[in-house]
Amino acid sequence: MEKNAKIYVAGHRGMVGSAIVRKLQSEGYNNLVLRTSSELDLRNQSQTEIFFTTEKPEYVFLAAAKVGGIMANNTYRADFLYENLMIQSNVIHQSYVHKVKKLLFLGSSCIYPKLAPQPLKEEYLLSGYLEETNEPYAIAKIAGIKLCENYRRQYGCHFISAMPTNLYGPNDNYDLEKSHVIPALIRKFHEAKMNNLPNVEVWGSGKPLREFMHVNDLADAIYFLMKNYKEEQFVNVGTGEEVSIKSLAEIICEVIHYEGTIVWNSERPDGTPRKLMSVEILRRLGWKHKIQLKEGIQEVYAQKYLR
Ligand code: GDP
Repeated sequence: MEKNAKIYVAGHRGMVGSAIVRKLQSEGYNNLVLRTSSELDLRNQSQTEIFFTTEKPEYVFLAAAKVGGIMANNTYRADFLYENLMIQSNVIHQSYVHKVKKLLFLGSSCIYPKLAPQPLKEEYLLSGYLEETNEPYAIAKIAGIKLCENYRRQYGCHFISAMPTNLYGPNDNYDLEKSHVIPALIRKFHEAKMNNLPNVEVWGSGKPLREFMHVNDLADAIYFLMKNYKEEQFVNVGTGEEVSIKSLAEIICEVIHYEGTIVWNSERPDGTPRKLMSVEILRRLGWKHKIQLKEGIQEVYAQKYLR
């Protein structure tokens, strides 16, 4: 990827897309093509086609997607399936039509079967039933992987896919009903501290185990893959380290210096019991994350609330 190559980052306003843009800019790339969703609706086939015909990007990072936490996935089920299928089909197909040199598609760790052995190896894809709460989103992401795989097999396209673990970082969504757990808890504990509230409600039992990665580490990993990885097999991107939701809540409590108590609300879903990625392939390729969880949360908290 030459420094003046024309690179389209789809979804550059989102947490992942904006991290990719920061990474590319810091590496000296100066010909990025960016469009907000109001300028270009990637769900719309003809708008996407006109965009590719006009701009002819050489490289594509496909980070545009409808995303959300456990409640959003479970509530807006049709939207998560339809919008993600449309966005990725349009971008991947146009990348084929306009001979994009390389495309990287971003999936998610929720593509794996609910009861797959852990850590989740890439080969476990489609070996069992998915987690019910995010099945529509997972089905869309699996279709994205298969599009990349099969445009490669049928047309020889250089399309690769990366499956990130649960992410957090700047430009995350802090809406309490739609967000993921880290921004939700940062907001809840911060507001409770500011308002001297005696307790904070946290969803589920606290028992589920999750792996979390700072989005700057993800951007670093996918830049690495874009430069060095050529295979059909999609690659997990994670830290290989897991934490219970209970420990996570305690870490966030500590970072924020909140002194009240945590109240567990079992009316809210736990979701999948455990979700740890195998990072064997990524390690073998020579990449490892740098940002530790507490340090990453400290940074995100400071950026959001202490400036
Ligand atoms: P998931 O990995 O797809 O389940 O995504 P989430 O980040 O939404 O949830 C992770 C875990 O955190 C689940 O077990 C949730 O029940 C738990 N959790 C605890 N409190 C919250 C909260 O306030 N918001 C969210 N989104 N999850 C929470």
